[in-house]
Amino acid sequence: MEKRLNKFKLRCPQCGDNFEAELNTAVFSEGDERRDILEESFARVTCPSCGHTFRANYTFAYTDDDIKFMIINDPKFVDLQYRLAFLSSLKLLDKKRKDEAYNFVIRMSKSLAEVKEKIIIFESFLSDKAIELMKYIILESDQFDLAYDDVASFTYEDDGNFKIISKDGRVMKLRFIKEIYDKVLKQYEKYFKETEGQMIDRNWAYEFLKKIKN
Ligand SMILES: [Zn+2]
Repeated sequence: MEKRLNKFKLRCPQCGDNFEAELNTAVFSEGDERRDILEESFARVTCPSCGHTFRANYTFAYTDDDIKFMIINDPKFVDLQYRLAFLSSLKLLDKKRKDEAYNFVIRMSKSLAEVKEKIIIFESFLSDKAIELMKYIILESDQFDLAYDDVASFTYEDDGNFKIISKDGRVMKLRFIKEIYDKVLKQYEKYFKETEGQMIDRNWAYEFLKKIKN
């Protein structure tokens, strides 16, 4: 698979120096990079000033032509303005490319961890929307002793379980119960719109459920 290399300005989290690195902006599921993403070794760079090695969160597209999904990762997507700009750029695609693009599930992502989770979910032929709703429902339930704000990360893992890391560093595994997933999917699927690239995360689940209730 041919790489599309671009120069990125990076900042070393250890010494604060800025440097440039060439990174691939067109990543495909057939290449070795898929495994690197799953093993969390993707986009590893070394700072030329202090030798510190870290993973660079940068702008790239991940494409799976078989399952037909595309993940656009951009750390700037934390900012709503950037997300809106991306969505309008999708709207500007000419008709042919639009038809092609719309055969794909397109997702925005803002971190390498999110890209990894989306790949695992889509390769398991699950709906990331139903999974985000499930997570939200779990966090809201009285049986769960962590509050929404105490959770640092909550991810669907490749062993088929949820992994929750609290802000004070506790790691918990939670069984993914397919019956609950099916129930959530059945209840909400009719409201899922698959027409454009979306950021499907905790915030999306919150806004989605708020809208449904009204
Ligand atoms: Zn450094």
